[in-house]
Formats: sequence, structure tokens, C-alpha cells
Amino acid sequence: MVSRRDFLVRSGMAGAAWLGHTAMGQAAPSTQQAATSPQAAPATPPPPGVQPEPDLLQKLETYASTETIRTTKLRDTLFLLEGVGGNIVCQIGPDGKLLIDAQMAAGTQHLLDALGKLDAQPLKLLVNTHWHPDHTDGNAALHLAGAFIIAQINTRVRLQSPQYMAAYELHVPAAPDAALPQETFDETSTLWVNNDQEDLIHAPYAHTDSDIFVHFHNGNVIHTGDLWFNGMYPLIDTSTGGTINGMIKGVDAVLALADEQTKVVPGHGPLGDKAALQNYRTMLVTVADRVEKLKAQGDTVEQAIAAKPTADLDAAWTKPGAIQPNTFVALVYESL
Ligand SMILES: [Zn+2]
Repeated sequence: MVSRRDFLVRSGMAGAAWLGHTAMGQAAPSTQQAATSPQAAPATPPPPGVQPEPDLLQKLETYASTETIRTTKLRDTLFLLEGVGGNIVCQIGPDGKLLIDAQMAAGTQHLLDALGKLDAQPLKLLVNTHWHPDHTDGNAALHLAGAFIIAQINTRVRLQSPQYMAAYELHVPAAPDAALPQETFDETSTLWVNNDQEDLIHAPYAHTDSDIFVHFHNGNVIHTGDLWFNGMYPLIDTSTGGTINGMIKGVDAVLALADEQTKVVPGHGPLGDKAALQNYRTMLVTVADRVEKLKAQGDTVEQAIAAKPTADLDAAWTKPGAIQPNTFVALVYESL
């Protein structure tokens, strides 16, 4: 089996790790890659905070077509599945499989293969944590494989039409009808399947305007969606409703439900726990406070970046291929 790391190093494409899936120590930040790619080279420098990745979706599909899925048992009925894109949780049981998030469409066959090894029950339900393609691109194929799809209403609304992610200069086309959630909700929804209670809880204006996290009561597992990028600066997708203060509130809502035994699955990065999520919250609040002060004293976004408000945090939170400090500062500034 070729590991993700081996594949990315071998292919020299580690820079496309935007959403953290290559945050495992490779080189080649995205700006270098853009400089060597003719169609990606901008005529003028992008505005502050932009990490241009206009070909990102194709890159992720390429990775996903070859990447196998790594499966980690969380509880007897709950599994973490890692491939290309956001982390997936699968719950098994007598009601059939419940999936949280769908990754890239090109990886669906690998995902179905991995699911087949968990038990013989069919795939029944798919929950999307938010609209981003690295969490929803597999929706249509998984729907055809049997999944009824549930999401916050804004996930359906955004999937229905083309979207633009300014942080990467990335255009995302509208999803096909088969990819659209069949059931939506606004603030909360509860499932009662596989001898558990699964609460789906909206975190308004956080990473996007469509985020939810999923709390498995009996399993004591929480999938945070992209409220949490474990060990790295997160993307705040300000172009589709994300804000730093909403991120912090969302993280607080997760922390309020977690205890020391809770297994907390981030949207990106390794499996974590309450203590690691608290550590991340401290970083978010620290950066928000510092950037807010700079903005309040009249600094422009360029001046705020130049002030390096994250300098003492960067060694711990900057990961290759993930959101870089200048980008994070710009996104926080913009959303305050
Ligand atoms: Zn996302």
C-alpha cells in the first residue's frame, strides 16, 4: 500500500494540501507550486491572505483516485476513516451504516471498499458537516450507493449553485442533483439509529455558514467538522459566511459536550481529545484578540499582517500545505 505521504512526496504535489490532509511534514508550499504552474501564475500579486489554488479540485481528485483509506477503530461501532479530504466517521449497527462526510468523488470506491470491511450492513445515511467539496464531493456516488443525505440547509443551498472560495481563488461548480441533501434542518436535528443518539448541531457563521458538528451520545464521540483543524491554523471561509468569532463559539459548543474520555474527530488532522481542542481554542482567541486590537487602532490588513501578531505561535501552528500565518491573519481581520 502506498501511504498518502509516500504518494505526495513521490508526486511532488504536496503543496495542494490546502485543507490539512498533507499536514504531515512535506515541503512545497502552494505559493511555490503556483509559481511553476503557467496557468496559475497571476499577472498581479493576489490580495493579502490569498493562497491561490485554482486547480485544487483536480489535484484532490487525482490524489483520491489512488489513495486508499486508513481505518481507525474509535469504539465498537464507530470508526475514523482517513483518505483525501475531510475526516470521515462511520457508525455501524443494525440500522445500517451512518457516514459523517463524503470526501472526494474519485475516492468513493476506496471508501466503499473500506466500509465493506467493517460489517455486512448496507450504507443508509450520510451527514455532511458543511458544503465544502472535500466533504461533499462524494455525495452523488454515495447517494447512488444507498445513502439518504442530511445536512444543514445552507449546505444544500450552496451545493445548488456555483461557489467561489476567495482564500484560494477557487471556483466550485454547482453539484449534481444526486449530491443534494434530501433532508435539511436549521439549528439542530437528532437521529436515533444504531442504538445511539446522534445530535447534529449547527454552528452559525463559523468555518462557513453551513457548519454542523455531530455528537454520538452513547459512543462519546464528536465529529467537529471543520470547526477544528487539529494542530494547524484553520481555514475560515469568509467568502461563504465564515467568521473567527463563530469558530470560537462553535468550538465552545463542542467543548461543553466533551469530557476527558470523548474522542474528538477534527475535520482535518489527527484524532484528538478535549485537551487538544482547548489548546486550539486558546490559539484562536489569542489571535482574534491581537488582530482585533490592530484593527481597532486603524491598521489596514496589510499593516496587521506586517505586525506579525502570530509570530510566537507560528512554530506550533504552521503546517506545510495548510493555512499559512499571513492568510490566517487576513481571514481573521476580514471577519472581525
Ligand atoms: Zn471546510
